[in-house]
Amino acid sequence: MTNTYSAPLNAVRIENNRLHASEIEHVTSPNTSGEFPRNFPDTLVIHFTGGSSASSSVNYMLNPKSKVSAHLVIGRNGEVTQLLPFNAIAWHAGQSSFAGRKQFNNYAIGIELDNAGQLDMDANGEYVSWFGKRYHPNDVFVESSHSNSTGRSGIKNNSDLQESPNAHSPTYWHRYSEVQLQRTFDLCRLLCNTYHINYVLGHEEISPGRKFDPGPAFPLRQLRRYLTQHSFNAQPSDVTVDELSRELPPSLQYTNEKQLSVSRKSITASQDFPYTSAIVSVKRLNVRFGPGTEFTKASSQLTSGQVVRVLERGDTWSRVAYTAEGWVSNEYLTFVKQKR
Ligand SMILES: [Zn+2]
Repeated sequence: MTNTYSAPLNAVRIENNRLHASEIEHVTSPNTSGEFPRNFPDTLVIHFTGGSSASSSVNYMLNPKSKVSAHLVIGRNGEVTQLLPFNAIAWHAGQSSFAGRKQFNNYAIGIELDNAGQLDMDANGEYVSWFGKRYHPNDVFVESSHSNSTGRSGIKNNSDLQESPNAHSPTYWHRYSEVQLQRTFDLCRLLCNTYHINYVLGHEEISPGRKFDPGPAFPLRQLRRYLTQHSFNAQPSDVTVDELSRELPPSLQYTNEKQLSVSRKSITASQDFPYTSAIVSVKRLNVRFGPGTEFTKASSQLTSGQVVRVLERGDTWSRVAYTAEGWVSNEYLTFVKQKR
């Protein structure tokens, strides 16, 4: 894929949790519960809007009655609207869980791509969206094997398929445009290099059975591979522990909108964080299969600044989860106090 939109990635930067480039549109959605707690966001969640245009989706998310929002909406021509700063909690994930965590709004930057979602084939063989718009076959992605069984997420299991009577009939999905995908890849890369992103997930992976976005037309596996190669968890030297434990600036407002000046008290009261985190405080940290140096080392190491979940905290060793899990010495962890 090549950069065909006007501003290449190196022209876009993040300042005060907002994208900076000439053609990025900035608005502020009232649909936020305020600032992320310290060390978050650590996840990107990819969505399709299921709407007819980027502007209609943006307008919907600016309406307080909709009670939904996301950080970014990426249009089919690569145009980008930012609706909330990246340090503010947006309302895009809803009921969600993954790897032991729930309520992903509290952890994740939400990225919405303008896309009609799943399409139906009508009696004339034409592809039509739920809101009645027709699509050219070139804009349709046909998932012909097993519906929702591409193995992209590893979430769906065989029993789902056996129970589904339509397991073998093709499904139709609105294609993403090339420039839109390129823009998404580049912005995800920028976000991974700016924030400490540990997970890149599709909405369908954190709300399986309830949500189907971004769907089979989105190259989620390629995105993960791209981020692993270009940035994903590859920024430890840029992020020091001091930088991570610094208080986030209280100012969420981009313009002077009053709706974002939510008090810190009300923010923390509404959140429930079920476990402790810790930050790795040495350049390289060995992970072992048990609590002591006598246990075998895992093949992966943790790196400075990496945020891990503490599953079990012993006196000298703790069992932690990252992309895998294992035991590490407490000496090299900075435990993060939970806000309540
Ligand atoms: Zn979604």
